[in-house]
Amino acid sequence: MLDDILSEKLSNIKKSGLLRKLRLISSSPAANVIIDGKKFINFSSNNYLDLAGNEEINKAASEAARKYGLGGTSSRLVGGNLSIHEELETELAAFKNKQASLVFPSGYQANAGVISALASMENSCVIMDKLNHASIWDGAKLSGARVFVYDHCDMNSFEIVLKRARGYAVKLAITESVFSMDGDAAPLREFAELCQKYDAVSMVDEAHSAGVFGKEGRGLAEMYGVQDKIDIVIGTLSKAFAVQGGFVCSSRKLVDFLVNKSRAFIYTTAVSPAICAAALKSLELVKKAGSQREHLLKTAENLNKHLKRQGFDTSNSCTQIIPVITGSIKNTEKLSAALLRHGAFAPAIKPPTVPEGFARIRISLTAGHTKSDIEKLLEAIKKQSFS
Ligand SMILES: *Cc1c(COP(=O)(O)O)cnc(C)c1O
Repeated sequence: MLDDILSEKLSNIKKSGLLRKLRLISSSPAANVIIDGKKFINFSSNNYLDLAGNEEINKAASEAARKYGLGGTSSRLVGGNLSIHEELETELAAFKNKQASLVFPSGYQANAGVISALASMENSCVIMDKLNHASIWDGAKLSGARVFVYDHCDMNSFEIVLKRARGYAVKLAITESVFSMDGDAAPLREFAELCQKYDAVSMVDEAHSAGVFGKEGRGLAEMYGVQDKIDIVIGTLSKAFAVQGGFVCSSRKLVDFLVNKSRAFIYTTAVSPAICAAALKSLELVKKAGSQREHLLKTAENLNKHLKRQGFDTSNSCTQIIPVITGSIKNTEKLSAALLRHGAFAPAIKPPTVPEGFARIRISLTAGHTKSDIEKLLEAIKKQSFS
């Protein structure tokens, strides 16, 4: 019975060209990958600083596994709070120049756990950019609070919404810093100023900017000099850090509150101590990775310029994430397949991940990409036209 219902659902998804399937990669997810036994240049990973597979990180993980074991074994509040968790949190808080930090098993859980806990308080609301990540939306939904949405990166629209939300005691305003599917950057300075003006709590998800922007890779808020004006910072250890897990950095009080009220923190097993040790090592490397950051952003700037010159729509990308907007699902699939034929793997991104009519290829660059990798990609893209 259930199988029949699911068959029909899946067949409908397939008919609309939106069926998602897992692709099997049999190598490490670095700048080059093996898919079905064939080598491809990988433009699909968030391994921005090319730290995946790093020997020092691997060594830190295996040493910690030997010392503590691999499993977290219980919730942090029950008996799983190890010194290595607190050590990582101290370092992350310092990295973001905040009083305290709390680590979650994933960035998804960090957003869901922080937003749902805060916005569940009486007389709270959530205000957010239309294109915020699914984990932010899900946190808001879990809270049951009223959600106000403003147009993407549009500070006029944001201000209008802030005025409408005036009656709420807690106004949680959330934006990504670098948007995951568009590669554009939020106007954080204006965002922070408006939050201050309307007494809203400012929350920024730096999932794609931590490690990449700022002198020591602290993120876009560092680059814009507004770290101190952002109340709550969310990060992931799974992208530039190339490990796993998510975190929040904020005031000591906020973290104490989360330890008491965030269900995504309370009712889950402590993050693996091996992961914590790996993240600590990765953090050390991220801070020193200035030349990798420079190489990455220069590569991105060049690629974006070339794509635009060839008439492709790369939206407002100004980062290592470069979308090539193809509009229809069909065109996106055509381009993705053509790239694969030329040895480049860049995934087709379709609705509902992006709005209807804005399907795209998402090119994600890493410090591991060479000039020749980019030339090959451009060569492959050039051969495509949409009609
Ligand atoms: C990837 C991502 C997350 C989730 O992080 P994970 O550690 O992968 O769960 C959260 N926010 C944004 C903006 C992301 O792109």
